[in-house]
Amino acid sequence: MNVILVGPPGAGKGTQAERLQKTYGLKHLSTGDMLRAEVAAGSQIGRQAKAIMDRGELVPDEILIRMIGERIGQPDAAKGFLLDGFPRTVAQAQALDTMLAGRKQKLDHVIQLVVNNDAMVERISGRFSCKKCGAGYHDSFKKTKKPGVCNVCGSTEFVRRPDDKPETVRTRLEAYDKQTAPLLPYYRARGVLREVEGMAAIDEVTAKLGKVLGAA
Ligand code: AMP
Repeated sequence: MNVILVGPPGAGKGTQAERLQKTYGLKHLSTGDMLRAEVAAGSQIGRQAKAIMDRGELVPDEILIRMIGERIGQPDAAKGFLLDGFPRTVAQAQALDTMLAGRKQKLDHVIQLVVNNDAMVERISGRFSCKKCGAGYHDSFKKTKKPGVCNVCGSTEFVRRPDDKPETVRTRLEAYDKQTAPLLPYYRARGVLREVEGMAAIDEVTAKLGKVLGAA
């Protein structure tokens, strides 16, 4: 089964994809994570992408199309993938269609996490994670039990994404409205788009996604 999660930054795509990948045995592919790994490795793609990502803008289509084209062909995605953060433009969606047709594969579901965009700035700008184990927290919604200490590994070092600053989040939301929202009519016209209310509690959203995907 091949699934795409669509929604603005902060909608919960990554959180839900992590849960669904375990239940359904799908490979969670986050292009944001892939690009951050390229930046951390100092690769050519990482060097091209870093400043664009820090501004909250979209990295050029050719780079993402090549990256995802190589990734979905790998054995760990053979049983199906769960795309988070790709496609983000109609050109990327068209390229994905061509890649899948070439592999005789299809898209089973494109699920839009429907959220209130205005709430996303607060959701994202409070995010931070443990530098050592990656556990995710939030200044208001998910604090550490002991101030300054990771619940999972006890580390006292935390990191924030450079693009989670409120002013950059606003640019990312604008990029979503202008460049990514046009995917919704594109997929609706093809009969694969499903909507799931994304403002509910995390467990409730997971349950609703499970209804769309069917029994694991
Ligand atoms: P994310 O982790 O999905 O919020 O992505 C972080 C940043 O990576 C975005 O703000 C973009 O700069 C870049 N990015 C991730 N996926 C894509 C994509 N499909 N197309 C263009 N840029 C992307």
